[in-house]
Amino acid sequence: MWASSPVVYTSIKPVAMLVKAVAGDDLDVKVLLPDSASPHDYALKFSDLRALREANLFVWVGPELESILAKALRGIPGENQFSLAGIKTLHWPEHLSHDHHGEHTSDHSLHDNELSKDPHLWLSPENSLKVGEALLEQLSNKYPQLKGNFTENLRTFSKGLVVLDDKIEKQLEHVKQQGFIVLHDGYGHFVDHYGLNQLSVIKLSSGAGRGARHYSDMMALGDQVACVFTEPQLNSKSAIQLANTLGSNHAELDLMGTNVMLSDDSYLEFFTAFADSFATCLSD
Ligand SMILES: [Zn+2]
Repeated sequence: MWASSPVVYTSIKPVAMLVKAVAGDDLDVKVLLPDSASPHDYALKFSDLRALREANLFVWVGPELESILAKALRGIPGENQFSLAGIKTLHWPEHLSHDHHGEHTSDHSLHDNELSKDPHLWLSPENSLKVGEALLEQLSNKYPQLKGNFTENLRTFSKGLVVLDDKIEKQLEHVKQQGFIVLHDGYGHFVDHYGLNQLSVIKLSSGAGRGARHYSDMMALGDQVACVFTEPQLNSKSAIQLANTLGSNHAELDLMGTNVMLSDDSYLEFFTAFADSFATCLSD
């Protein structure tokens, strides 16, 4: 249809997977951040700024996640950027594991604002469907001649996701009571959607320190902890140490879809593997 397809740039792989689910092969979906990067502390390169300017559309979660992009996007016209966190219909879970053990009490106004919304919204299938619907509207406004294709793609994606959600619900049913600790506070949407028993968080994505008191609190959980989850983007040493000391399992949880190849089905592949990691470590 075009000599070359319009380019939609996305900030991170999970956003790209959702855009690809709707856009299919009609748009050229690219990812800005490398797979190895954590969006919480990424440093933009000059080539990234050029990519932002040249993109026909840039899709990101929002300043709560990719804070580094907020300033760079000020120079990009509003119709060429779309923030998923701005979608009105999304469900925001109560912030989980926001345990008050001293480190937040001194400056509540700052931290409450920062912690009230868990920006890792792609970990809830309910929200991912809403993102798909919002992307259909966004992409159809920009490329009206492709609306039929986008609509068909979203229908296929939604069907697949509803089936997968149901399957995961059953898969996790028998491990709902099993306690676990995650490496950073990124799992609220998943934990809330499937009613899982997250006991604590090792690091905060804001980078705010958690002191020795927090470590002893985690140690005190003892054999309530069935698994400690590590992540490919973050140094997992402390988490593995903690698991060894507690005598619990540990396993890697990849919320960024690091090894997933971008395709129409990549979100479903990613989410299947993500749920499997939970189920396996919690049932061992
Ligand atoms: Zn995160």
